[in-house]
Amino acid sequence: MNRRILISGAGIAGPTLAWWLHRYGWQVTVVERAVGLRTAGQNVDVRGAAREVIRRMGLDDELAARGTGEVGTRFVDEQGHTIAAFRAATSDTAGATAEREILRSQFAELLLERTRGHTDYRFGEQIERIDDGPDAATVTFAGGVTERFGVVVLADGVNSTTRDAVFGEVPRRPLGVSIAYYSIPRDAEDDDWWRWYNAPGGRTISLRPDNVGRIRVMLSYRAGLGAPDRLDLQRRFADAGGPASRALRGLADADDLYGEALQQVRAPRWSAGRVVLLGDAAWCATPVSGMGTSLAIVGASTLAGELAVHVHPRDAFAGYERRLRPYVERAQRLPPGTPKLAHPTSATGVALLRTGLRLVGALPPAVAGRLFAPPADRFTLPDFPQPEAAEGSPGSPSGTPTGR
Ligand SMILES: Cc1cc2nc3c(=O)[nH]c(=O)nc-3n(C[C@H](O)[C@H](O)[C@H](O)COP(=O)(O)OP(=O)(O)OC[C@H]3O[C@@H](n4cnc5c(N)ncnc54)[C@H](O)[C@@H]3O)c2cc1C
Repeated sequence: MNRRILISGAGIAGPTLAWWLHRYGWQVTVVERAVGLRTAGQNVDVRGAAREVIRRMGLDDELAARGTGEVGTRFVDEQGHTIAAFRAATSDTAGATAEREILRSQFAELLLERTRGHTDYRFGEQIERIDDGPDAATVTFAGGVTERFGVVVLADGVNSTTRDAVFGEVPRRPLGVSIAYYSIPRDAEDDDWWRWYNAPGGRTISLRPDNVGRIRVMLSYRAGLGAPDRLDLQRRFADAGGPASRALRGLADADDLYGEALQQVRAPRWSAGRVVLLGDAAWCATPVSGMGTSLAIVGASTLAGELAVHVHPRDAFAGYERRLRPYVERAQRLPPGTPKLAHPTSATGVALLRTGLRLVGALPPAVAGRLFAPPADRFTLPDFPQPEAAEGSPGSPSGTPTGR
């Protein structure tokens, strides 16, 4: 069998898969459309079964060391006074603030560091065409080169164009909420809490600490399908009150604005011939599920394990989908009213939400923490042959290219 694997996308799913595949003896190439690792976005959290995968990769202490330092989540009113506060979790799955919160860009960088010694990364490159065959898939790259691979993995995110080229348009479920992320300078009054503020009109503003001396802003609002743009955000949040004026002042100067209209990807099948989908490209559950990154990690290790125990990719892909699909579907089934309940439109709705939060805030922390827990632990990691123990980083972070 052709032991070369091509992965499209150097986000979280792709490099995690590269790590596992190398341990199982595959020769891995990763193409990333951006010219370097993408640096936009804010925290991602790692929960449940994904924590165990990360431990098996020997990365849990690294994730802790590179954590954002967020101490918990505080819901605040117009004056910044606390409505309810929830300390960061001290377990694998629970908490609005999980035990492992890391900037997405730093996580991607860590994975790159740990795989670049053995993985052929090609930035600024992408797949142009895939011709599937009985023994291998022939891939033509945008740069003009043609190569053969035993397996092609499309891990190139929610808006994967390679997926659409192979599988056609896949069904999506829009959630009716858009999110914009960017960062602003930290000031003397900032602390290390995640501050969440609701304004009428279905708008939220949240401010989160990071470990590079900035504050990560997230603006979310009820909207249609358009991705957020700067002028539209200025207009929408101008009268939101609370931290709005500071957030909008920062928006004017932000060079790291990243946004999306939330939509789940519901691909009816995850493979076709020698091509398989992974991560957000296959099943984006959206950030409101609290499981996007955890699913990517669990999915990557499961796919690698299946490829290790099956001779033909077809059987590996069937096993991967059979094991993972129930977990993914569970993650995609958001709690009733999510995300609209967290985005009330009227002042009365905001007041009711705050009353509910005060009640939850009065519960014992362990009980309240579970209310915020997604079903990240509802997966039993398969018992694949364990590859050799994780080794140290073969690469150097200093040479890491960055892009947005
Ligand atoms: C810039 C960015 C910022 C994000 N910020 C947050 C955040 O703050 N909070 C949050 O919860 N989630 C965020 N996400 C989403 C989160 O990373 C994913 O939900 C989760 O980690 C699963 O990752 P993934 O690897 O499947 O997809 P992604 O993390 O989306 O990675 C996909 C990668 O594929 C690349 N790519 C796209 N098209 C092609 C192509 N045609 N050829 C080659 N490469 C391609 C992209 O540039 C990207 O690097 C962000 C994603 C991105 C891309």
